[in-house]
Amino acid sequence: MKNIITIVGARPQFVKAATLSRQFQLLGINEKIIHTGQHYDTNMSDVFFSEMEIPKPAFQLDINGVSHGAMTGRMLEGIESILMQEKPDGVLVFGDTNSTLAGALAAAKLHIPVIHVEAGLRSFNMAMPEEINRILTDRISNVLFCPTDSAIKNLEKEGFSNMPIKIIKNGDVMQDAAMFYAEKATSKSDIVNKLGKNNFVLATIHRQENTDNPENLKNIIEGLELINKQIPVVVPMHPRTRNILIQNYKTPEFTIIDPVGYFDMIMLLKSCEMVITDSGGVQKEAFFFGKNCITLREETEWVELVENGYNTLVGSNKDKLIAAFQLMNLKNNDFSLDLYGKGNAAKMAAEEILKL
Ligand code: UDP
Repeated sequence: MKNIITIVGARPQFVKAATLSRQFQLLGINEKIIHTGQHYDTNMSDVFFSEMEIPKPAFQLDINGVSHGAMTGRMLEGIESILMQEKPDGVLVFGDTNSTLAGALAAAKLHIPVIHVEAGLRSFNMAMPEEINRILTDRISNVLFCPTDSAIKNLEKEGFSNMPIKIIKNGDVMQDAAMFYAEKATSKSDIVNKLGKNNFVLATIHRQENTDNPENLKNIIEGLELINKQIPVVVPMHPRTRNILIQNYKTPEFTIIDPVGYFDMIMLLKSCEMVITDSGGVQKEAFFFGKNCITLREETEWVELVENGYNTLVGSNKDKLIAAFQLMNLKNNDFSLDLYGKGNAAKMAAEEILKL
């Protein structure tokens, strides 16, 4: 394949796309990016394109701020008309957002091969919009690049081995990004200095099951406030979480900052004592940067982190969060285990794509 259309829309996809775009340029694959507009603020979108040197999107759809159905429907229509005009050899989608599903569906209906990077992951929680998006996307894709052995196993259990779908384990492209940008981040980011804190816990909260459930959010906020009494907690806060907090709660006692760019995030991950998060990507990044992690969810797609003791799941239970914090604080883990590849996942995927 020489002509690829890549669909991105949300923050984690910019990080993943950066790794593939660089490899496409090295291999002479022509890539045009469609940005659906799901995330659009400067600090949720633009900063990633500039810092990570992602090619400027050829198409901007500006679809955001509407319900899941409306968003996916409008994206489907917008992407379809671009694909009809561009006629690419393949469409590349990442992860599990509405942009992923809309891109895959538009391409599949036009019989354009769909390539899904970060395929095969399952939380087995169908209440998560992400789980619906990833299952449907995998099913209508032609090529699935899987980051882990458990992702491959999930697909096998669902009968994918009997389908005309190419399944390849290539490792995790987020590992590539962490390795590639770590040095640059050190020279470019001043965030730790600006924060003025030597010891801190880094936390992020944005998952719908936490932000949209007042009881869950209250428990998490109170748990983080208790931890903050022992060690400062720093939260780069997702705009949707911040809006909900402003409307429903007093200002929390821990430190809230605006969402940060990727370089700042790398430096926060490198410098913190521990990570508390409900993000998929940040759970892995804690591991990449040698930090124990507590996950504010009942389940995770990244099971190998839990199985190997790097991550503890506490849901939104305040007592469990505090207990896990005390436990993880004492844990001296060895982070040298190879769980996500050696930083060449994007190279492997791009070389395969060129051969298709
Ligand atoms: N991230 C960032 N700044 C922040 C919070 C997250 O750069 O303020 C990065 C993070 O390092 C990771 C990606 O955004 O690379 C993860 O995105 P997010 O947590 O929004 O999505 P998820 O991984 O849960 O799908």
